[in-house]
Amino acid sequence: MRTITLIILHCSATRENQRYTAEDCKRDHMKRPHFKDIGYHFYIERDGKVVEGRPIEKIGAHCEHHNNHSIGICLEGGLDCHGQYADTRTGAQEMALLGLLARLKDDYPHALIVAHHELNPDKPCPCFDVSEYRQLFG
Ligand SMILES: [Zn+2]
Repeated sequence: MRTITLIILHCSATRENQRYTAEDCKRDHMKRPHFKDIGYHFYIERDGKVVEGRPIEKIGAHCEHHNNHSIGICLEGGLDCHGQYADTRTGAQEMALLGLLARLKDDYPHALIVAHHELNPDKPCPCFDVSEYRQLFG
């Protein structure tokens, strides 16, 4: 088993009036060199549907220097209708994320929940504050 120390949250950087499903994301990732699958382990669509991406046992491709020891979760959205970074989480996505994080923290109690931008300040991703999840789950 891999050692998991981080659960990293991302957004897909999609405008809130557009769709970008897990299937869309997988298709685009697989166009990249060396990608044989979607880069994330989980993808949460706007309607709260949680789609499993790479198996957790497999190293993801979502956060440079941190892939070896992390799980990557991506939420569809992250831009307003003008293309500006924005918290576009739907209620359904928030519920789904809470459920997923509860499950993952059961399996990996020592993993820290972090935002992509906390590891790479050049990126605004995931365009929402993740400290609320750290407070909830420790
Ligand atoms: Zn990201």
